[in-house]
Amino acid sequence: QLSIAIVGLPNVGKSTLFNALTKNDVLAANYPFATIEPNVGVVNLPDPRLTKLAAVFHSERILPATVSFVDIAGIVRGASEGEGLGNQFLANIREADAIAQVVRGFTDDDVVHVEGGVNPKNDLETINAELMLADLQTLERAIPRIEKEVKGKKTDPSVLEAAVAAKDALERGTLLSQSDIELGAIRELGLLTAKPYIYVFNVDEAVLTDAAAKASLEALVAPAHAVFLDAKIESELIDLDPEDAAELLASTGQDESGLDQLARIGFDTLGLQTYLTAGPKEARAWTIGKGWKAPQAAGVIHTDFEKGFIKAEVISFDDLIDAGSIVEARSRGKARLEGKDYVMRDGDVVEFRFNN
Ligand code: GDP
Repeated sequence: QLSIAIVGLPNVGKSTLFNALTKNDVLAANYPFATIEPNVGVVNLPDPRLTKLAAVFHSERILPATVSFVDIAGIVRGASEGEGLGNQFLANIREADAIAQVVRGFTDDDVVHVEGGVNPKNDLETINAELMLADLQTLERAIPRIEKEVKGKKTDPSVLEAAVAAKDALERGTLLSQSDIELGAIRELGLLTAKPYIYVFNVDEAVLTDAAAKASLEALVAPAHAVFLDAKIESELIDLDPEDAAELLASTGQDESGLDQLARIGFDTLGLQTYLTAGPKEARAWTIGKGWKAPQAAGVIHTDFEKGFIKAEVISFDDLIDAGSIVEARSRGKARLEGKDYVMRDGDVVEFRFNN
Protein backbone atom coordinates (compact mmCIF):
# COMPACT_ATOMS: atom_id res chain seq x y z
CA GLN A 1 0.00 0.00 0.00
CA LEU A 2 1.55 3.24 -1.23
CA SER A 3 1.59 5.88 1.48
CA ILE A 4 2.43 9.56 1.53
CA ALA A 5 3.11 11.46 4.75
CA ILE A 6 1.57 14.92 4.97
CA VAL A 7 3.85 17.24 6.92
CA GLY A 8 4.00 20.96 7.50
CA LEU A 9 3.98 23.64 10.15
CA PRO A 10 0.87 23.96 12.35
CA ASN A 11 -1.98 26.03 10.88
CA VAL A 12 -1.00 25.64 7.24
CA GLY A 13 -4.18 23.72 6.36
CA LYS A 14 -3.11 20.09 6.79
CA SER A 15 -6.25 19.02 8.67
CA THR A 16 -8.50 20.91 6.27
CA LEU A 17 -6.84 19.14 3.38
CA PHE A 18 -6.81 15.81 5.13
CA ASN A 19 -10.52 16.07 5.91
CA ALA A 20 -11.24 16.71 2.28
CA LEU A 21 -8.97 13.83 1.43
CA THR A 22 -10.77 11.31 3.53
CA LYS A 23 -14.19 12.96 3.53
CA ASN A 24 -13.89 12.69 7.26
CA ASP A 25 -14.99 15.31 9.67
CA VAL A 26 -11.82 15.41 11.74
CA LEU A 27 -11.79 18.71 13.56
CA ALA A 28 -9.80 21.41 11.82
CA ALA A 29 -9.04 23.59 14.77
CA ASN A 30 -7.55 27.00 14.59
CA TYR A 31 -4.68 26.47 16.97
CA PRO A 32 -1.28 24.78 16.84
CA PHE A 33 -0.93 21.12 17.83
CA ALA A 34 -4.58 20.32 17.03
CA THR A 35 -3.58 17.28 15.00
CA ILE A 36 -1.84 14.97 17.41
CA GLU A 37 -2.73 11.44 16.40
CA PRO A 38 -1.44 10.31 13.05
CA ASN A 39 -4.42 9.74 10.82
CA VAL A 40 -4.51 7.60 7.75
CA GLY A 41 -6.85 8.22 4.86
CA VAL A 42 -7.06 6.10 1.74
CA VAL A 43 -8.07 7.83 -1.48
CA ASN A 44 -8.74 6.54 -4.94
CA LEU A 45 -6.35 7.36 -7.70
CA PRO A 46 -8.60 9.10 -10.23
CA ASP A 47 -8.67 7.08 -13.44
CA PRO A 48 -11.31 7.95 -16.06
CA ARG A 49 -10.24 4.90 -18.07
CA LEU A 50 -11.92 2.59 -15.58
CA THR A 51 -15.37 3.99 -16.31
CA LYS A 52 -14.92 3.35 -20.02
CA LEU A 53 -13.50 -0.08 -19.38
CA ALA A 54 -16.42 -0.97 -17.13
CA ALA A 55 -18.81 0.09 -19.92
CA VAL A 56 -17.11 -2.21 -22.43
CA PHE A 57 -17.19 -5.19 -20.08
CA HIS A 58 -20.50 -4.35 -18.34
CA SER A 59 -18.57 -4.62 -15.07
CA GLU A 60 -20.58 -4.48 -11.87
CA ARG A 61 -18.04 -2.36 -10.03
CA ILE A 62 -14.92 -0.28 -10.41
CA LEU A 63 -11.85 -0.67 -8.22
CA PRO A 64 -9.29 2.11 -8.75
CA ALA A 65 -5.73 2.02 -7.45
CA THR A 66 -5.36 3.74 -4.09
CA VAL A 67 -2.97 6.08 -2.38
CA SER A 68 -2.96 6.40 1.38
CA PHE A 69 -2.11 9.61 3.15
CA VAL A 70 -0.82 9.85 6.69
CA ASP A 71 -1.55 13.10 8.45
CA ILE A 72 1.50 13.79 10.61
CA ALA A 73 1.21 16.09 13.59
CA GLY A 74 2.59 19.60 13.06
CA ILE A 75 6.32 20.06 12.97
CA VAL A 76 7.72 23.22 14.48
CA ARG A 77 11.19 24.69 14.64
CA GLY A 78 13.17 22.58 17.11
CA ALA A 79 11.10 19.44 16.54
CA SER A 80 14.21 17.35 15.92
CA GLU A 81 15.37 18.34 19.43
CA GLY A 82 12.11 17.33 21.03
CA GLU A 83 10.29 20.67 20.81
CA GLY A 84 6.57 20.86 20.09
CA LEU A 85 5.35 17.34 19.56
CA GLY A 86 8.89 16.02 19.89
CA ASN A 87 10.14 13.05 17.96
CA GLN A 88 6.94 11.03 17.86
CA PHE A 89 6.15 12.07 14.31
CA LEU A 90 9.48 10.90 12.94
CA ALA A 91 8.59 7.23 13.10
CA ASN A 92 5.38 7.91 11.17
CA ILE A 93 7.23 9.76 8.44
CA ARG A 94 9.85 7.03 8.29
CA GLU A 95 7.21 4.47 7.34
CA ALA A 96 5.85 6.51 4.43
CA ASP A 97 7.01 6.11 0.82
CA ALA A 98 7.00 9.82 0.09
CA ILE A 99 6.55 13.15 1.81
CA ALA A 100 4.05 15.82 0.86
CA GLN A 101 4.85 19.09 2.58
CA VAL A 102 1.93 21.49 2.89
CA VAL A 103 3.12 25.10 2.74
CA ARG A 104 0.90 28.01 3.68
CA GLY A 105 0.40 30.56 0.95
CA PHE A 106 -3.04 31.83 1.96
CA THR A 107 -3.47 35.08 3.80
CA ASP A 108 -6.01 35.24 6.60
CA ASP A 109 -5.48 37.46 9.61
CA ASP A 110 -7.82 35.26 11.65
CA VAL A 111 -5.53 32.27 11.32
CA VAL A 112 -2.44 32.52 13.49
CA HIS A 113 0.86 31.87 11.76
CA VAL A 114 3.22 30.08 14.16
CA GLU A 115 6.27 31.85 12.76
CA GLY A 116 4.69 35.27 12.73
CA GLY A 117 3.83 35.86 9.07
CA VAL A 118 3.04 34.13 5.80
CA ASN A 119 6.38 33.31 4.21
CA PRO A 120 6.41 30.11 2.14
CA LYS A 121 10.18 30.11 1.60
CA ASN A 122 10.90 30.48 5.30
CA ASP A 123 8.31 27.85 6.21
CA LEU A 124 9.53 25.18 3.91
CA GLU A 125 13.11 25.82 4.96
CA THR A 126 12.05 25.41 8.61
CA ILE A 127 10.47 22.03 7.93
CA ASN A 128 13.29 20.85 5.71
CA ALA A 129 15.86 21.93 8.31
CA GLU A 130 14.08 19.81 10.93
CA LEU A 131 14.01 16.78 8.65
CA MET A 132 17.67 17.29 7.73
CA LEU A 133 18.64 17.61 11.41
CA ALA A 134 16.80 14.39 12.16
CA ASP A 135 18.74 12.66 9.37
CA LEU A 136 22.03 14.10 10.62
CA GLN A 137 21.33 12.66 14.07
CA THR A 138 20.58 9.27 12.51
CA LEU A 139 23.83 9.37 10.53
CA GLU A 140 25.95 10.59 13.45
CA ARG A 141 24.74 7.59 15.44
CA ALA A 142 25.12 5.15 12.55
CA ILE A 143 28.53 6.11 11.17
CA PRO A 144 30.66 4.90 14.16
CA ARG A 145 28.77 1.61 14.07
CA ILE A 146 29.26 1.23 10.31
CA GLU A 147 32.98 2.08 10.69
CA LYS A 148 33.36 -0.79 13.16
CA GLU A 149 31.48 -3.15 10.88
CA VAL A 150 33.67 -2.21 7.90
CA LYS A 151 36.83 -2.79 9.99
CA GLY A 152 35.47 -6.18 11.01
CA LYS A 153 34.69 -6.88 7.32
CA LYS A 154 31.01 -7.33 8.12
CA THR A 155 29.93 -4.44 5.92
CA ASP A 156 31.04 -3.26 2.49
CA PRO A 157 33.06 0.01 2.52
CA SER A 158 30.57 1.48 0.01
CA VAL A 159 28.02 1.68 2.84
CA LEU A 160 30.34 3.87 4.87
CA GLU A 161 31.14 6.01 1.84
CA ALA A 162 27.44 6.59 1.17
CA ALA A 163 26.76 7.43 4.84
CA VAL A 164 29.62 9.95 4.98
CA ALA A 165 28.59 11.50 1.65
CA ALA A 166 25.01 11.80 2.91
CA LYS A 167 26.19 13.53 6.08
CA ASP A 168 28.27 15.99 4.04
CA ALA A 169 25.33 16.75 1.75
CA LEU A 170 23.03 17.41 4.72
CA GLU A 171 25.63 19.67 6.32
CA ARG A 172 25.64 21.67 3.08
CA GLY A 173 21.85 21.94 3.35
CA THR A 174 20.93 19.53 0.56
CA LEU A 175 17.92 17.24 0.83
CA LEU A 176 19.16 13.72 0.12
CA SER A 177 16.46 13.20 -2.50
CA GLN A 178 18.07 16.07 -4.41
CA SER A 179 21.65 14.84 -4.03
CA ASP A 180 23.30 12.45 -6.47
CA ILE A 181 24.44 10.04 -3.75
CA GLU A 182 23.77 6.34 -4.34
CA LEU A 183 21.38 5.92 -1.41
CA GLY A 184 20.57 2.23 -1.96
CA ALA A 185 23.47 1.19 0.28
CA ILE A 186 22.04 3.05 3.30
CA ARG A 187 18.34 2.40 2.70
CA GLU A 188 18.04 0.54 6.03
CA LEU A 189 18.70 3.81 7.89
CA GLY A 190 15.27 5.08 6.79
CA LEU A 191 16.54 8.61 6.15
CA LEU A 192 13.65 11.05 5.90
CA THR A 193 15.01 13.45 3.31
CA ALA A 194 15.90 10.55 1.00
CA LYS A 195 12.19 10.06 0.31
CA PRO A 196 10.57 11.54 -2.78
CA TYR A 197 9.17 14.97 -2.03
CA ILE A 198 6.10 16.86 -3.20
CA TYR A 199 5.25 20.40 -2.13
CA VAL A 200 1.60 21.33 -1.69
CA PHE A 201 1.06 25.07 -1.72
CA ASN A 202 -2.18 25.91 0.04
CA VAL A 203 -2.92 29.25 -1.59
CA ASP A 204 -5.70 31.80 -1.96
CA GLU A 205 -8.10 31.18 -4.79
CA ALA A 206 -6.67 34.09 -6.82
CA VAL A 207 -3.24 32.45 -6.90
CA LEU A 208 -4.65 29.33 -8.58
CA THR A 209 -5.02 31.29 -11.80
CA ASP A 210 -1.92 33.46 -11.35
CA ALA A 211 0.77 31.80 -13.45
CA ALA A 212 3.53 34.19 -12.34
CA ALA A 213 2.82 33.69 -8.64
CA LYS A 214 2.78 29.93 -9.11
CA ALA A 215 6.02 29.98 -11.09
CA SER A 216 7.82 31.83 -8.33
CA LEU A 217 6.64 29.32 -5.71
CA GLU A 218 7.54 26.47 -8.02
CA ALA A 219 11.05 27.89 -8.37
CA LEU A 220 11.52 27.64 -4.59
CA VAL A 221 11.20 23.87 -4.67
CA ALA A 222 12.37 22.76 -8.12
CA PRO A 223 13.21 20.09 -9.16
CA ALA A 224 10.61 18.68 -6.72
CA HIS A 225 6.98 18.74 -7.87
CA ALA A 226 4.61 21.46 -6.69
CA VAL A 227 0.83 21.11 -6.38
CA PHE A 228 -1.32 24.21 -5.96
CA LEU A 229 -4.65 24.06 -4.23
CA ASP A 230 -6.95 25.98 -1.94
CA ALA A 231 -7.71 23.68 0.98
CA LYS A 232 -10.96 25.56 1.67
CA ILE A 233 -12.16 24.95 -1.88
CA GLU A 234 -11.08 21.33 -1.65
CA SER A 235 -13.22 20.89 1.43
CA GLU A 236 -16.18 22.50 -0.36
CA LEU A 237 -15.70 20.29 -3.42
CA ILE A 238 -16.21 17.09 -1.47
CA ASP A 239 -19.72 18.09 -0.47
CA LEU A 240 -20.84 18.80 -4.03
CA ASP A 241 -22.20 16.43 -6.64
CA PRO A 242 -19.87 15.89 -9.61
CA GLU A 243 -21.54 18.50 -11.85
CA ASP A 244 -21.46 21.28 -9.27
CA ALA A 245 -17.92 20.30 -8.31
CA ALA A 246 -16.80 20.56 -11.94
CA GLU A 247 -18.45 23.98 -12.16
CA LEU A 248 -16.72 25.23 -9.01
CA LEU A 249 -13.39 23.93 -10.29
CA ALA A 250 -13.90 25.59 -13.66
CA SER A 251 -14.68 28.88 -11.91
CA THR A 252 -11.24 28.68 -10.28
CA GLY A 253 -9.57 27.91 -13.61
CA GLN A 254 -8.89 24.23 -12.89
CA ASP A 255 -10.01 21.01 -14.49
CA GLU A 256 -8.87 18.69 -11.72
CA SER A 257 -9.18 19.00 -7.95
CA GLY A 258 -6.01 19.57 -5.94
CA LEU A 259 -6.48 16.23 -4.22
CA ASP A 260 -6.72 14.40 -7.51
CA GLN A 261 -3.58 16.19 -8.64
CA LEU A 262 -1.85 15.23 -5.43
CA ALA A 263 -2.75 11.55 -5.79
CA ARG A 264 -1.69 11.56 -9.44
CA ILE A 265 1.59 13.41 -8.90
CA GLY A 266 2.34 11.32 -5.82
CA PHE A 267 1.89 8.21 -7.89
CA ASP A 268 4.15 9.57 -10.60
CA THR A 269 6.82 10.84 -8.23
CA LEU A 270 7.13 7.34 -6.86
CA GLY A 271 7.66 5.90 -10.33
CA LEU A 272 4.43 3.93 -10.25
CA GLN A 273 1.92 3.09 -12.96
CA THR A 274 -1.15 0.93 -13.32
CA TYR A 275 -2.33 -1.83 -15.56
CA LEU A 276 -5.97 -2.75 -15.92
CA THR A 277 -8.06 -5.89 -15.74
CA ALA A 278 -11.75 -6.14 -16.53
CA GLY A 279 -14.62 -8.59 -16.60
CA PRO A 280 -18.31 -8.72 -15.74
CA LYS A 281 -17.53 -8.52 -12.02
CA GLU A 282 -15.09 -5.62 -11.91
CA ALA A 283 -12.92 -3.20 -13.80
CA ARG A 284 -9.80 -2.72 -11.80
CA ALA A 285 -6.47 -0.89 -11.75
CA TRP A 286 -3.38 -2.55 -10.28
CA THR A 287 -0.36 -0.66 -9.01
CA ILE A 288 3.09 -1.62 -10.33
CA GLY A 289 6.48 0.04 -10.76
CA LYS A 290 7.67 1.43 -14.07
CA GLY A 291 9.75 -1.11 -15.96
CA TRP A 292 8.16 -4.13 -14.30
CA LYS A 293 7.87 -7.26 -16.41
CA ALA A 294 4.69 -9.24 -16.90
CA PRO A 295 5.26 -12.00 -14.29
CA GLN A 296 6.08 -9.50 -11.53
CA ALA A 297 2.99 -7.50 -12.47
CA ALA A 298 0.89 -10.68 -12.35
CA GLY A 299 2.22 -11.29 -8.83
CA VAL A 300 0.40 -8.17 -7.61
CA ILE A 301 -2.90 -9.99 -8.25
CA HIS A 302 -1.75 -13.26 -6.75
CA THR A 303 1.62 -14.92 -6.09
CA ASP A 304 0.35 -17.99 -8.00
CA PHE A 305 -0.05 -15.81 -11.10
CA GLU A 306 3.65 -15.00 -10.90
CA LYS A 307 4.86 -18.51 -10.07
CA GLY A 308 2.77 -20.21 -12.74
CA PHE A 309 3.03 -17.41 -15.32
CA ILE A 310 2.69 -18.64 -18.93
CA LYS A 311 1.64 -15.64 -21.00
CA ALA A 312 -0.26 -12.41 -20.81
CA GLU A 313 -2.86 -11.34 -23.34
CA VAL A 314 -2.34 -7.58 -23.61
CA ILE A 315 -4.44 -4.96 -25.37
CA SER A 316 -3.65 -1.30 -25.04
CA PHE A 317 -6.48 0.68 -23.48
CA ASP A 318 -6.92 2.91 -26.56
CA ASP A 319 -7.06 -0.05 -28.95
CA LEU A 320 -9.67 -1.75 -26.79
CA ILE A 321 -11.88 1.33 -26.60
CA ASP A 322 -11.52 1.87 -30.37
CA ALA A 323 -12.58 -1.72 -31.00
CA GLY A 324 -15.45 -1.54 -28.52
CA SER A 325 -15.11 -5.13 -27.37
CA ILE A 326 -12.41 -7.65 -26.64
CA VAL A 327 -13.66 -9.91 -29.46
CA GLU A 328 -13.39 -7.07 -31.98
CA ALA A 329 -9.95 -6.08 -30.64
CA ARG A 330 -8.78 -9.65 -31.14
CA SER A 331 -10.15 -9.83 -34.68
CA ARG A 332 -8.34 -6.59 -35.48
CA GLY A 333 -5.12 -8.19 -34.30
CA LYS A 334 -4.77 -5.77 -31.38
CA ALA A 335 -4.52 -8.47 -28.72
CA ARG A 336 -0.89 -9.48 -28.21
CA LEU A 337 0.31 -12.60 -26.46
CA GLU A 338 3.31 -11.51 -24.42
CA GLY A 339 5.84 -13.69 -22.59
CA LYS A 340 7.81 -13.35 -19.38
CA ASP A 341 10.15 -10.64 -20.68
CA TYR A 342 7.38 -8.23 -21.64
CA VAL A 343 7.80 -4.83 -19.99
CA MET A 344 4.40 -3.58 -18.83
CA ARG A 345 3.05 -0.24 -20.00
CA ASP A 346 0.67 2.09 -18.24
CA GLY A 347 -2.89 1.33 -19.27
CA ASP A 348 -2.28 -2.15 -20.59
CA VAL A 349 -5.49 -4.18 -20.35
CA VAL A 350 -4.33 -7.62 -19.36
CA GLU A 351 -5.48 -11.18 -18.92
CA PHE A 352 -2.87 -13.53 -17.48
CA ARG A 353 -2.55 -17.19 -18.41
CA PHE A 354 -0.95 -19.29 -15.75
CA ASN A 355 -0.47 -22.86 -14.45
CA ASN A 356 -1.87 -23.71 -11.07
P1 GDP B 1 -3.13 22.37 10.37
O1 GDP B 1 -2.72 22.81 11.74
O2 GDP B 1 -1.98 22.49 9.39
O3 GDP B 1 -3.77 21.05 10.34
O4 GDP B 1 -4.17 23.48 9.85
P2 GDP B 1 -5.77 23.43 9.79
O5 GDP B 1 -6.22 22.63 8.62
O6 GDP B 1 -6.31 23.08 11.11
O7 GDP B 1 -6.06 24.95 9.41
C1 GDP B 1 -5.82 25.99 10.33
C2 GDP B 1 -6.82 27.08 10.09
O8 GDP B 1 -6.60 27.64 8.79
C3 GDP B 1 -8.27 26.61 10.13
O9 GDP B 1 -9.02 27.60 10.76
C4 GDP B 1 -8.64 26.52 8.66
O10 GDP B 1 -10.03 26.75 8.46
C5 GDP B 1 -7.81 27.61 8.05
N1 GDP B 1 -7.47 27.31 6.65
C6 GDP B 1 -6.98 26.15 6.14
N2 GDP B 1 -6.80 26.24 4.82
C7 GDP B 1 -7.17 27.49 4.46
C8 GDP B 1 -7.20 28.19 3.21
O11 GDP B 1 -6.86 27.67 2.14
N3 GDP B 1 -7.64 29.48 3.24
C9 GDP B 1 -8.02 30.09 4.41
N4 GDP B 1 -8.42 31.35 4.38
N5 GDP B 1 -8.01 29.45 5.59
C10 GDP B 1 -7.60 28.17 5.63
